[in-house]
Amino acid sequence: MICKTIVEGTTKVLVPVPPLDAAFPPSAAPVFYNPEMEFNRDINVAATAAFVKRLLSRKDILREEIRYVDAFSASGIRGLRIAGEVGIHSTMNDWSPEAFEMIKENIKINGLEEKTFATHRNANVLLHEQKFHIVDIDPFGTPSPFLDAASASVWSMLSVTATDTAPLCGAHLNSGIRKYAAVPLNTEYHSEMGLRVLLGACARELAKHEKGMIPLLSHVTRHYIRTYLEIIPGAKNVSRTLKSMGFSIHCPKCGFRGPVYGLAVHIDRKCPMCESLTQIAGPLWLGPFRELEFCNEVISELEAHPLNTKDKAKKLITFCRDELDIPMFYDQHVICKELGASATGIETLIEAIRADGFEASRTHFSGTSFRTDAPITEIKKIIRKLSE
Ligand code: SAH
Repeated sequence: MICKTIVEGTTKVLVPVPPLDAAFPPSAAPVFYNPEMEFNRDINVAATAAFVKRLLSRKDILREEIRYVDAFSASGIRGLRIAGEVGIHSTMNDWSPEAFEMIKENIKINGLEEKTFATHRNANVLLHEQKFHIVDIDPFGTPSPFLDAASASVWSMLSVTATDTAPLCGAHLNSGIRKYAAVPLNTEYHSEMGLRVLLGACARELAKHEKGMIPLLSHVTRHYIRTYLEIIPGAKNVSRTLKSMGFSIHCPKCGFRGPVYGLAVHIDRKCPMCESLTQIAGPLWLGPFRELEFCNEVISELEAHPLNTKDKAKKLITFCRDELDIPMFYDQHVICKELGASATGIETLIEAIRADGFEASRTHFSGTSFRTDAPITEIKKIIRKLSE
């Protein structure tokens, strides 16, 4: 295997040089490494550091006693960075023999023997056998077959990456239904749909193990979804968590959308605005997908760590922080197309909506999109007026 050394944060890692002619080089190499995910891993360092601070302030525990597992570790990069850059104990696991050897080599290169442990198991077996404060599920593809074991294992925080955005967002409808037992809708806000299907699946898996959740931070970036969930154990907390589950109505004719909370609910077939037949997605997570204060803590950690993607990461987390907690954003371009109107700057539109007495914000999901509590009829009036 031809290898090279790369540096992310303050961690040095030996990774294979992928064949140049491959369609997707990271998965063609004997051990997986995707340089594009450095952004995801930088945010992981900051978010995990922020969460560890919270744990230390709330629990009678030492930093070195906090245990993190990188269940799909490949080169070891994710877990090594947590051990080296956050200073907690990290277990790195991969069932591939080549990956296992590379993880051990990378532990030595970073002198992290004391703070780490390499394992060579099926992730589901490891997670059913051992408990960790922080469980990180970053497989290549869908996390769905691993959510049960991860929910059983986790004590304090569950971090999940999903790269199967087509099934989650409704582009591969039946695959999404099979993996997540939820029906998504492929609308202009499909990326948010995907996140809410994933969060809903996590809430239901955790519920089986008597664990509730509070999403601390979630973002959808390019072709993946990443979320950090605080675990709150106990039946009462599970019941409270499940109150954030429900369905989302969408009217394909007028663009109305709205949440319906609950798992067994009456849903009118007709759009409350235009009386057309509506479409329904769910079950979904309809609660907040990030906690404002946690976003501020992550931004402080991003400042404190040497990270190559620091500025981009700070910008993203700031966007997440400042979004309204109203599910399912609107895309200005979609509404403009329907109305035959021309689009204005997104900030101008948001100001105009606010001037009419409604709440409005941008969203990290898309630069041309916004969230608001204004009804679709009002939104259209405002867009028409701005376009005159
Ligand atoms: N998290 C890594 C990328 C993981 S790629 C990073 O940030 O770079 C997915 C890895 O999971 C591969 O190395 C593969 O060998 C391993 N894998 C896939 N299924 C597994 C399973 N059921 N148990 C353990 N490892 C698994």
